[in-house]
Amino acid sequence: MTEELKTATVFTGIAELVTNDVLLDGADHCEQLGRLSDAAVVVQDGHIAWVGPASQAPPADELHDVGGRAVIPGFVDSHSHLVFAGDRSQEFAARMTGARYDGGGIATSVNATRAASDDQLRALVAARVAEMRVQGTTTVEIKSGYGLSVQDEARSLRIAAEFTTETTFLGAHVVPPEFAGRRSEYVDLVVGEMLSACAPYARWIDVFCEPHSAHAFTEEEARVVLSAGQDAGLGLRVHGNQLGYGPGVRLAVELGAASVDHCTFLTVEDVEHLAAASDTTVATLLPGVEFSTRSPYPDARRLLDAGASIALASDCNPGTCYSSSIPFVLALAVREMNLTPAEALLAATVGSAKSLRRNDIGVIRVGNRADLTVLDAPSYLHLFYRAGVPIACALSPGGRHGR
Ligand SMILES: [Zn+2]
Repeated sequence: MTEELKTATVFTGIAELVTNDVLLDGADHCEQLGRLSDAAVVVQDGHIAWVGPASQAPPADELHDVGGRAVIPGFVDSHSHLVFAGDRSQEFAARMTGARYDGGGIATSVNATRAASDDQLRALVAARVAEMRVQGTTTVEIKSGYGLSVQDEARSLRIAAEFTTETTFLGAHVVPPEFAGRRSEYVDLVVGEMLSACAPYARWIDVFCEPHSAHAFTEEEARVVLSAGQDAGLGLRVHGNQLGYGPGVRLAVELGAASVDHCTFLTVEDVEHLAAASDTTVATLLPGVEFSTRSPYPDARRLLDAGASIALASDCNPGTCYSSSIPFVLALAVREMNLTPAEALLAATVGSAKSLRRNDIGVIRVGNRADLTVLDAPSYLHLFYRAGVPIACALSPGGRHGR
């Protein structure tokens, strides 16, 4: 999502630089944020070339003064469903008056997505990615899952791949209506012809493993889907434990998935599994979903205290959370899930990068991608202190930011 720039640019006037680099000399490492005041960053060819105090910055071809603002690592949104058409705002309105969500509305998005042209879908994704950038997100993972046919899943991923390398095949989102009563035939299609058509455009495979929804997949079905994806060379992600207690977390840990997402309902054993697998499997929390479905929030404090790795992401999707805003997610995580501001910011940068098995993003360090987000504020704390105010924006290599 970053434009490349051949010349070196030095960014100065950074009142507070959050690097997330616990090894950086001279930084304040309290809370693991690696904070540096009055800092400078040199960017070249889309990568970080130098980080340190402004007074020691080396000369560069161009200088850009950010005017006393804070700079943080760009947000890594490791869970989104941006390839869809149609509108489901009426479902949201119904939920706010008491209707329960069980996954059935996905068919509405499937019908609209199938009916849209490639150009229409591409324009919708482009607009959503741009909307994310002006809210500070510099890396986005994008799933398929509203095509649910060989052709429509493959084109969803082909379009997603125009915007990110973090593409995820989610043919096992729900059983589409035309396969009602023929679940096993649909699973066969997903792991056969559909996987073959989608794997060239996908880095990951995902499955909605949720025994509490008649539309989603059982543990046995999820295991078949994930194993087939693994055999096709894809990394594993799981939608699990969203609507109630279930096998998703246990299965994700057992199969070495990079991430298990939602984790709203966790048993003591689930938390122990995630803590034991903290190097491998990240628990990705999506509080925008709980907000938009009026559901209880996952207990992030319990996961961190147990030693699990956590990430925060948007789950931007047409049904259960049509918000692309990581600042909104951060505010929810602090207000409703008992994280400190520092823990929340780490989860949406380092944590989500880890869930994508990436170490070139999420930390402002020499050699990493120059994915910087600037805040119209002197400190990262204003992300939380000024909740709802649009202060975060991704910084382009040329120094442009704003809307
Ligand atoms: Zn999702």
